Amino acid sequence: MQSTRNGDSSRPALQSSSQKDHLARADEHGELDQGVRDNSPTLASAIPVDLVRQPRARRYILRVTRAGRVRVTIPRGGSEAFARRFLAEKKDWIEIQLQRLAARAQAREVWCAGTPVWFRGERTPLVERDGRLWLGALELANFDTRHDWRPVVLRALFQLARAELPALVWSEAKRLGIPIQRVTVRNQRTRWGSCSRKGTISLNWRLIQAPTFVRDYLIIHELAHVREMNHSQRYWRLVDEWFPAWRAAEQWLRRHGRELLD
Ligand SMILES: [Zn+2]
Repeated sequence: MQSTRNGDSSRPALQSSSQKDHLARADEHGELDQGVRDNSPTLASAIPVDLVRQPRARRYILRVTRAGRVRVTIPRGGSEAFARRFLAEKKDWIEIQLQRLAARAQAREVWCAGTPVWFRGERTPLVERDGRLWLGALELANFDTRHDWRPVVLRALFQLARAELPALVWSEAKRLGIPIQRVTVRNQRTRWGSCSRKGTISLNWRLIQAPTFVRDYLIIHELAHVREMNHSQRYWRLVDEWFPAWRAAEQWLRRHGRELLD
């Protein structure tokens, strides 16, 4: 009876049509929510909510506006109590939308000394020292202090990912006895990785921005798809066996994934 709609961004409770790709959108694999409980205070609980009665509306509509407000449209015959319950149910989705907004605002900023950049799971400030640019222990080659450092930083991270990730995939594949053909590192906007039927594993370079356990989980996630090209119970049993901490990794991605992708 309840349904949702919103104008310019993704819908809650969206189901994935793809069976093999690991999509970055947390709302596309609702099955993962089972057993994962997060009781910490969330952004969504602190943000302003508008309940708007709209006699012409035919159903409850939930939106996160560009200004960062949450609006629930209550249809004729609807109740505020139901709207609030509905809101509580969609808490995770709302939080993801708000994170997206925040990440977009951040993405528009110029990067310079002090700008925090996700690197191996830490928001690491960029540092200029002796005419060189550093991100943690990573030295970034030729850059011009007068300009935005962002392209230089992103390029360096991409190169690092290409140097690091494939070797990790190959060694895990060997250890687990999974036959693969090829490993690619790509600049994907919407997913962390994918696995083709031909045995090509593709990973998003941004995984080097995530904590190492999240990166390792994604590698296992894709390797497990070589055996099971779906997200069936059999598939998750395999992941659970190979990487028991997968829930914590999924939780990290739900929380912070958007900050890396936007
Ligand atoms: Zn998957």
